[in-house]
Amino acid sequence: MRWVPFFCVCLFAADPNYRALRDGAPTDALRTENVELKRDAGTITLKNGQLAFVRANDRPAIAVFTGNGVFRLKPAIPIEASHLNKVTGTPELEEAFESAVFFFTDATYDEVKSQASAMPVDPRAAGVLKNLRDKLRRDRTYGDIGNVEAELLGEFYNPRRGASFRDYLQGKKYGDLRFFMVPSGALPSVGSPEETGLVNVEPNSDRAGIWYLTHLKSEWAKNIASSSEEKRDIASTHYKIDTEVAKGGDLSGSTEMEFTGVMGGARVLRVDLLPTLRVKRVTDEKGRQIEFIQESTKGDDSFHVLLPEGLEAGKKYMLRFEYDGNKVLRDEGGGNYSVGARSSWYPNVNSFLDHATYDLKFRSPRQYTLVSVGKLISETRDGSNTVSEWKSEIPLAVAGFNYGDFKKKSISDPQSKYDLEVYTTSNVPNVLREFTEGMILTPSAMAQNALVDAENSLRVYQKMFGDAPYGRLAVTQQPQFSFGQSWPTLVYLPVSAFLDGTQRWAMMGAQSFRFTEFIDEVTPHEIAHQWWGHVVGWASYHDQWLSEGFAEFSTGLFLEATRKPADVQKFWDRLQTQITEKNGFGQSANDAGPIWLGYRLDTPKSPGAARRMIYPKGAYLLQMIRMLMRDDKTGDQDFSDMMKDYVKTNLYKNATSEDFVAAVEKHMKPPMDLEGAHNMEWFKREWIYGTDLPRYRLEYSLKTSEDGKVRFTGKLTQSDVSADFVMRVPIYMDFDGRVIRVGSVALRGNMTAPEIAVNLPKKPKRVLLNANHDVLAAENTVKEIL
Ligand SMILES: [Zn+2]
Repeated sequence: MRWVPFFCVCLFAADPNYRALRDGAPTDALRTENVELKRDAGTITLKNGQLAFVRANDRPAIAVFTGNGVFRLKPAIPIEASHLNKVTGTPELEEAFESAVFFFTDATYDEVKSQASAMPVDPRAAGVLKNLRDKLRRDRTYGDIGNVEAELLGEFYNPRRGASFRDYLQGKKYGDLRFFMVPSGALPSVGSPEETGLVNVEPNSDRAGIWYLTHLKSEWAKNIASSSEEKRDIASTHYKIDTEVAKGGDLSGSTEMEFTGVMGGARVLRVDLLPTLRVKRVTDEKGRQIEFIQESTKGDDSFHVLLPEGLEAGKKYMLRFEYDGNKVLRDEGGGNYSVGARSSWYPNVNSFLDHATYDLKFRSPRQYTLVSVGKLISETRDGSNTVSEWKSEIPLAVAGFNYGDFKKKSISDPQSKYDLEVYTTSNVPNVLREFTEGMILTPSAMAQNALVDAENSLRVYQKMFGDAPYGRLAVTQQPQFSFGQSWPTLVYLPVSAFLDGTQRWAMMGAQSFRFTEFIDEVTPHEIAHQWWGHVVGWASYHDQWLSEGFAEFSTGLFLEATRKPADVQKFWDRLQTQITEKNGFGQSANDAGPIWLGYRLDTPKSPGAARRMIYPKGAYLLQMIRMLMRDDKTGDQDFSDMMKDYVKTNLYKNATSEDFVAAVEKHMKPPMDLEGAHNMEWFKREWIYGTDLPRYRLEYSLKTSEDGKVRFTGKLTQSDVSADFVMRVPIYMDFDGRVIRVGSVALRGNMTAPEIAVNLPKKPKRVLLNANHDVLAAENTVKEIL
């Protein structure tokens, strides 16, 4: 299929309001003397100077400020103040500026007009506006909101989105600071419903990043702020995707997206699509041609559909997209291809948030194999192509595919009732061949190992978390060396996972040993995402630990079931070190802030901290819950019941951290009721929103009486924590290699618990605290006491 381009470019250019926003010049100005604009947590004071206005949709919509102004931000919640302090050195920001551009659909104009008089437009205003427009159309930057004019258009045409205010200011200290107060979500690309944000955009600066992002002050005051607030215009329900992969890796296709209106009145829809896939045509269910916006790939290239009339909430619709482009698949040599556009190779909305059913059809060169999600319905030859059709009646959060000169190996596992497939190539990609001249590396030789690990992972997870619904899993090789990825029913493993130790040694030397853990763990980690990420999603970046941390925890379960106890010990020790070890600034990852801040934890002084929180600390949080729920007789049964209930309650939904704690609360046991309030508030406060890491010291004696009985007396101290920090700490004893939990102590704040005395049948070899990594402590207490 080849489409004639340029056709629709004229269509969208026709929208006069969009053009006015993109190209309009300031027409009139108001003098500003000590004008104060309060926008949620931000206050803009225009001390002197003027605002020059650009009109669109019969109203002033852009204001260019020249003069002297000050921007102040007073965070709505302590966590944000603390984060701002970490990145800027002050918990409340104050920044002077001499020029700024506001985009607004709120009452800014009327507010200023009531206290200002007209004056001629400052000749500098046009230049300030042009500079910003050039920048937005040239750079794709961190915290980018896409096409701001298209976002504004969406608000013009649907007042139900709420009135917004966006401030791009050229500060004296920070040259490109952007403050957003947008009811439908401040940063759409972040996928969070939070309405207020501050982003520092300084290309090539380590200060660049999201400095502030949270809900409205009014929502916090009313205690209604939530990561699961509904902000969607529409919810996708079904995708019918027809894709043609050309020999060189170019891709063309069409997608029919069925969806339901969520927010009534929506007319401008933001649709995710890789910018190099150029949209040729959009039509609706009536066959009408629909306008759209997709600017050049240099900058603000987000894709927006412009509907002729507003959508009704609850009503079903369909849109059909036709597109083609390159840079989707890259030939890496040796029959290996990398799939560039991970989730944006087809037009979609709310990827990873909506769960939709899929019909997929691929036409691809016959010499290669294409593997997709769902179930293979048919595979036929058509000349030099293979045509394959895939279907998923189970709703999926996202669809993907892999492609290459694959050899397939498959089994049916009667225990997990899963069909398992492994797809590997016979040759490594070019980039690896350079390191290994003369060696013959055949990833397919290791396919059997991957199959066994996949089978064991599924069995272990099904037992603990309940059945995953898909019934099929394809484990596929990708050319990337050190990361994997998981789609429902389809996993990407790095090529390194298919090389044996000798081959890795040949390539990496001593470095390869450090890599061994990653190789051992990548398969169980990615397979765990079938549950954590796909069967149960995560609501926002605040909750990503429910996906990555749970996958990491699951890896620990897999190691318990398949490896020596010492290997499990090493796994948790390593995680503990990643959380607590100090970097060159004397900062541990844990010092960067609470796990709840997710990927925002990466700051100049804590690079890489986010990963260490979301993965290892996330894993520890679940391990702590598991150990609190463990029963001496029934083991993990109660924990398993709770996890199965959590999966059932949140099936195909996106859980928040608070949803998870609610599931724990529902199944909580008396030893977990540490505040006597019959809730798990303490766990949220300490471990999800807090950063305390306790230290423990156990002083004890073992006295043998004349009749041979042994008496243990001990005193346990908790320190380095907030006054209201509560925890239950278990004491273990090692009787000839059998490590048994003999009791636990509840502690509050910095304290030494009353002396404990226990009579023992015999003398233990060792006395241990947290032998099962029951509590994440600042120091590894197992090592300490050994
Ligand atoms: Zn992961």
